[in-house]
Amino acid sequence: MRDPRYDLLFQPLQIGPKTAKNRFYQVPHCNGGGYRDPSAVVEMRRTKAEGGWGVIFTEQTEIHPTSEITPFIEQHLWDDRDIPALARMAEAMKSHGALAGIQLAYSGINGPNLYSREVPLAVSGGPILTFTSDPVQARTLDRADIRDLRRWFRNAVRRSQQAGFDLICLYGAHGFGIFQHFLSRATNLRTDEYGGTLENRARFVREVVEEAREETKGEMAISLRLSLHEAGKLGFSNAEVRDFIEMHGDLPDIWDLAHGTWEQCSGTSRFKPEAAQEDLVRGIKALTSKPVVGVGRFTSPDEMVRQIRTGVLDFIGAARPSIADPFLPLKIDEGRVEDIRECIGCNICVSGDMTHGISRCTQNTAFMEEWRKGWHPERARPKGASDSVLIVGGGPTGLEAALALGKRGYSVTLAEASLTLGGRVTAERKLPGLSAWGRVADYRTGQIAPMANVQTYLDSHLTDDDVLAMGVDHVAIATGATWRRDAVARLHLAPIPTDPAMAIWTPDDLMAGGGPMGGRVMIYDDDHFYMASVLAELVVARGCAVDFVTPATKVAEWTENTLEQAIIQRRMLEIGVTIHCSKAPEAIGAGSVTLGCTWTGRETTLATDAVLMVTSRIPSDTLYHSVMARRADWGSLKTVQLIGDAAAPGPIAWATYAGRRYAEELDEPDRGDALSFRREITELA
Ligand code: ADP
Ligand code: SF4
Repeated sequence: MRDPRYDLLFQPLQIGPKTAKNRFYQVPHCNGGGYRDPSAVVEMRRTKAEGGWGVIFTEQTEIHPTSEITPFIEQHLWDDRDIPALARMAEAMKSHGALAGIQLAYSGINGPNLYSREVPLAVSGGPILTFTSDPVQARTLDRADIRDLRRWFRNAVRRSQQAGFDLICLYGAHGFGIFQHFLSRATNLRTDEYGGTLENRARFVREVVEEAREETKGEMAISLRLSLHEAGKLGFSNAEVRDFIEMHGDLPDIWDLAHGTWEQCSGTSRFKPEAAQEDLVRGIKALTSKPVVGVGRFTSPDEMVRQIRTGVLDFIGAARPSIADPFLPLKIDEGRVEDIRECIGCNICVSGDMTHGISRCTQNTAFMEEWRKGWHPERARPKGASDSVLIVGGGPTGLEAALALGKRGYSVTLAEASLTLGGRVTAERKLPGLSAWGRVADYRTGQIAPMANVQTYLDSHLTDDDVLAMGVDHVAIATGATWRRDAVARLHLAPIPTDPAMAIWTPDDLMAGGGPMGGRVMIYDDDHFYMASVLAELVVARGCAVDFVTPATKVAEWTENTLEQAIIQRRMLEIGVTIHCSKAPEAIGAGSVTLGCTWTGRETTLATDAVLMVTSRIPSDTLYHSVMARRADWGSLKTVQLIGDAAAPGPIAWATYAGRRYAEELDEPDRGDALSFRREITELA
């Protein structure tokens, strides 16, 4: 039964000619699949429909080959041949009464056209403003080009309607969309009737909205997605956004507002709390008669209600919370708030798009595997022929395996050496900025607690004798990994000369409460993700002076993919960390370290009292090998598998995925050399 406090979230609301059944609005979000994996994307969106979202959008859909953002994989609506795949998506979105939306994108100054080889067209020409500094410039749109562009939008709108969508989102936000490029003085330097005054800069969007209405005979709803605030002297500031909305309050059928650049809008939980955009959006509703949707990594129904009750928003926009839990609305509706799988704000999903792989989610292991592997975010396939499984290790891998096996109906024993479930997450959640990561453990611990077929044993460090005495059908060993104490990782493939007089620490030492409490510390980061910078914050707070040494050209290089790199580098500088890029320790002495330049090999000496190695991890696989060595004693034991960090250390999302995969594949017929997932093959011309 739904808690009446949340009734407000289930009140239908009109968006132009359409009515959304509730206030849960899945804003457009990428997924790394796009046009390459159409069926995978369709089934991913279908789970959102099933999970009760009122409005569901596609990712960015490129309307014309004169603007595309290869290597990023989004959707195409270039001609009629793109309609069938999108029509399937619209059908899936509408399968449980949601409104289906399509986001139409023309990237202008942001599209390098590496695939189509067309000359990019921009509001004002200049170098393409991508993440990758492509050496390409765009040509300024002339009047004839603008007429063409309006016609291309009209064509895309017509095709969207043919595909069965209810809503069109005209993409302006994040610095990515042409609508905002026209509106912003930073990207619009024109002196004709499309430049200069705000009225002139708004001309293009007015024309496109008008033509879209005409083309669809007013039957589709139109959303305009803009940034709430662009930084910089010329940027489309929050004040100007408000002026624009006041002047054109009735222009779209709904205002979809998202803070600044993508990095600003989709901040990680390390740097941005839930509802972080509230100050920028509050008061905008008073400027328009049309509904307003905004995002803020909303996972708490109380916060969602507050946003609507206090008149900040009409719709609760969500990308990541809908990825982590496609069933979030249904769980609130059914009074199962404690079952919500809350987004941890890690941006691993974003990294799937940034690395052009396919997105994955730390929390929702089924994300983008709905079609490829037939996984579901909530449901499990029935169990196979065998009955009992022992899982050794209660970290993210072991917990996810226990939950998924428990759902399948196996008799599961989960043994954990320590007094707490959570493994690495138990320690990492206590680090500066990472408390939300604890949700990985909390969700799974909460879900398995009431399961009669899952028995958990804490304080149980198992040996090979213990494992073999259990008499189970299967054993999964998820015993994790430990950080290395030598410098071995990517740059150094063998240990370097080290004087035993130097204090050398690892992240495990610090997470256990040890490590330096003052003095100078050199952090060596050849991991390039979050850990080194998080520990820098920790030891600075303890009063240490920090030298951050990395062979990379910037701090925490891989966090480009989680949209954090610039924020981390700024944070390091702000807290007084001295950064040494393109450097690595070559030898460690008693009170100093010899650093080598990665370009020239030139050596310098850095005085320090301690070294913190953030390099790579060693799998904790001794138990596995000792059980494997005793095959003669297995008795009825059928399989023993090493999974998660104990097999190959990686980010937490890799661990939860490994746990899920183990559970899904148990008792499945051997696939031999066949692919472990479905894929779509390009149709030959
Ligand atoms: P993963 O990310 O793969 O889940 P973690 O390092 O987070 O790996 O978790 C591994 C867990 O396994 C830790 O909580 C650790 O205490 C536990 N563990 C390690 N060895 C044993 C053992 N022999 N018996 C029981 N638990 C173990
Ligand atoms: Fe949230 Fe992380 Fe999942 Fe993305 S990957 S939806 S940020 S939990």
